[in-house]
Order: sequence, then structure tokens, then C-alpha cells
Amino acid sequence: MVCKGTCDRYKAGKPFGINGRYGIGQKRCSICEIFMNWDGKHCPCCGYTLRTKPKGTQTRQKLMIIQQIRRI
Ligand SMILES: [Zn+2]
Ligand SMILES: [Zn+2]
Repeated sequence: MVCKGTCDRYKAGKPFGINGRYGIGQKRCSICEIFMNWDGKHCPCCGYTLRTKPKGTQTRQKLMIIQQIRRI
């Protein structure tokens, strides 16, 4: 899977608002290393599966805190 450079036309602009890039439907291709406005599940440029959600470390931390409170 190689970046052909065609992803440039789908390249997403800077996000605005509190939801961030994923919140407004932008997807990340880790091969092309850009965020793009694209409806498909795969990158139109390299064909790699696009990431549609953030890693979720914040939600994990919240769960940890809730579990700790329950133990006490
Ligand atoms: Zn590309
Ligand atoms: Zn790509």
C-alpha cells in the first residue's frame, strides 16, 4: 500500500469546533498521513482502511476512574 498522491484532492482542512476532526466526519489514513473528507471505508488513494474514531484513551481513563470509585 503506497500513497499515489491522489489523496491530495480529498485532503481535509483544519477542524473547527470542539468535536475535532473525527467529530466532523474526517477520516485519517495512516499511509498517506493526512485527514480527508471521504465517505468510503478505504482510502481512495492507497486503499488502506481509514480510521474513523480517535484512539479512545480518554474514555478508557474515565472507565478506570469509575472502577476505582466503585472499589472504594
Ligand atoms: Zn495518498
Ligand atoms: Zn491513503
